Amino acid sequence: MTTVSAISVEGLPVALEGPIKLDHPTINRVITEPRPGVYILVSEHSATGEFEYVGRADQAVNERILEWMNSFGWVFWAYAASTEDAYLKECQLYHHVNPSANARHPESPEGSGLNCPVCNEA
Ligand SMILES: [Zn+2]
Repeated sequence: MTTVSAISVEGLPVALEGPIKLDHPTINRVITEPRPGVYILVSEHSATGEFEYVGRADQAVNERILEWMNSFGWVFWAYAASTEDAYLKECQLYHHVNPSANARHPESPEGSGLNCPVCNEA
Protein backbone atom coordinates (compact mmCIF):
# COMPACT_ATOMS: atom_id res chain seq x y z
CA MET A 1 0.00 0.00 0.00
CA THR A 2 1.40 3.33 -1.01
CA THR A 3 1.43 6.29 1.28
CA VAL A 4 0.48 8.68 -1.52
CA SER A 5 -3.02 9.00 -0.08
CA ALA A 6 -1.47 10.54 3.01
CA ILE A 7 -0.11 13.43 0.96
CA SER A 8 -2.30 16.50 1.19
CA VAL A 9 -2.60 19.32 -1.31
CA GLU A 10 -3.88 21.60 1.43
CA GLY A 11 -1.66 24.56 2.05
CA LEU A 12 0.03 24.47 -1.35
CA PRO A 13 0.42 27.93 -2.93
CA VAL A 14 -1.23 26.60 -6.12
CA ALA A 15 -4.45 24.57 -6.07
CA LEU A 16 -3.74 21.11 -7.51
CA GLU A 17 -5.93 18.13 -8.37
CA GLY A 18 -4.96 14.62 -7.40
CA PRO A 19 -3.34 12.36 -6.72
CA ILE A 20 -4.19 10.42 -9.86
CA LYS A 21 -2.41 7.35 -11.20
CA LEU A 22 0.33 8.11 -13.69
CA ASP A 23 -0.72 5.78 -16.50
CA HIS A 24 -2.12 6.30 -19.99
CA PRO A 25 -5.79 5.47 -19.29
CA THR A 26 -5.97 7.71 -16.24
CA ILE A 27 -4.12 10.67 -17.70
CA ASN A 28 -6.06 10.48 -20.97
CA ARG A 29 -9.36 10.34 -19.08
CA VAL A 30 -8.67 13.07 -16.52
CA ILE A 31 -6.34 15.58 -18.21
CA THR A 32 -8.09 16.03 -21.51
CA GLU A 33 -6.87 19.40 -22.73
CA PRO A 34 -3.41 19.99 -24.24
CA ARG A 35 -2.82 23.17 -22.28
CA PRO A 36 0.09 24.54 -20.22
CA GLY A 37 0.16 23.32 -16.65
CA VAL A 38 2.08 22.35 -13.55
CA TYR A 39 2.44 19.05 -11.77
CA ILE A 40 4.03 17.32 -8.80
CA LEU A 41 5.17 13.71 -9.05
CA VAL A 42 5.35 11.02 -6.39
CA SER A 43 6.89 7.55 -6.64
CA GLU A 44 4.72 4.49 -7.19
CA HIS A 45 5.53 3.23 -3.70
CA SER A 46 6.26 6.46 -1.93
CA ALA A 47 8.49 5.75 1.03
CA THR A 48 8.42 9.25 2.41
CA GLY A 49 4.88 10.43 1.81
CA GLU A 50 6.29 13.63 0.37
CA PHE A 51 6.10 15.49 -2.92
CA GLU A 52 9.18 14.49 -4.91
CA TYR A 53 9.34 16.40 -8.19
CA VAL A 54 7.81 19.69 -9.34
CA GLY A 55 7.49 20.40 -13.05
CA ARG A 56 5.59 22.35 -15.67
CA ALA A 57 4.54 22.02 -19.26
CA ASP A 58 4.74 25.01 -21.57
CA GLN A 59 2.27 23.41 -23.98
CA ALA A 60 0.50 20.12 -23.27
CA VAL A 61 0.62 19.15 -19.61
CA ASN A 62 -1.01 15.77 -20.27
CA GLU A 63 1.68 14.75 -22.76
CA ARG A 64 4.47 16.06 -20.56
CA ILE A 65 3.28 14.12 -17.54
CA LEU A 66 3.17 10.87 -19.51
CA GLU A 67 6.89 11.22 -20.22
CA TRP A 68 7.47 10.50 -16.51
CA MET A 69 5.45 7.28 -16.53
CA ASN A 70 8.45 5.02 -15.96
CA SER A 71 9.87 7.11 -13.13
CA PHE A 72 6.89 8.01 -10.95
CA GLY A 73 3.53 6.50 -10.07
CA TRP A 74 1.28 9.39 -9.02
CA VAL A 75 0.65 12.94 -10.09
CA PHE A 76 -0.94 16.08 -8.70
CA TRP A 77 -1.65 18.65 -11.39
CA ALA A 78 -3.36 21.85 -12.55
CA TYR A 79 -3.80 23.71 -15.80
CA ALA A 80 -2.19 27.13 -16.16
CA ALA A 81 -3.52 30.12 -18.06
CA SER A 82 -0.37 30.42 -20.18
CA THR A 83 3.26 29.37 -20.44
CA GLU A 84 4.23 32.32 -18.24
CA ASP A 85 1.59 31.42 -15.68
CA ALA A 86 2.84 27.83 -15.65
CA TYR A 87 6.36 29.05 -14.86
CA LEU A 88 5.19 31.31 -12.02
CA LYS A 89 3.11 28.50 -10.51
CA GLU A 90 6.00 26.07 -10.91
CA CYS A 91 8.30 28.43 -9.01
CA GLN A 92 5.81 28.87 -6.19
CA LEU A 93 5.40 25.11 -5.84
CA TYR A 94 9.13 24.47 -6.15
CA HIS A 95 10.00 26.82 -3.31
CA HIS A 96 7.13 25.64 -1.14
CA VAL A 97 7.77 21.90 -1.58
CA ASN A 98 11.58 21.94 -1.91
CA PRO A 99 11.34 18.68 -3.89
CA SER A 100 14.09 16.11 -3.47
CA ALA A 101 14.11 14.97 -7.11
CA ASN A 102 14.60 18.39 -8.75
CA ALA A 103 18.28 18.89 -9.52
CA ARG A 104 17.96 22.65 -9.89
CA HIS A 105 15.70 25.68 -9.94
CA PRO A 106 13.05 25.86 -12.69
CA GLU A 107 14.13 27.67 -15.84
CA SER A 108 11.97 30.46 -17.19
CA PRO A 109 10.34 29.94 -20.61
CA GLU A 110 12.62 30.68 -23.55
CA GLY A 111 12.60 34.40 -24.30
CA SER A 112 10.08 35.26 -21.58
CA GLY A 113 12.44 37.46 -19.59
CA LEU A 114 10.66 36.32 -16.43
CA ASN A 115 12.35 36.01 -13.06
CA CYS A 116 11.26 33.71 -10.25
CA PRO A 117 8.51 35.45 -8.22
CA VAL A 118 9.90 33.94 -5.02
CA CYS A 119 13.70 34.26 -5.17
CA ASN A 120 14.06 36.48 -8.27
CA GLU A 121 16.41 34.01 -10.01
CA ALA A 122 16.45 34.68 -13.74
ZN1 LIG B 1 13.09 30.89 -7.21
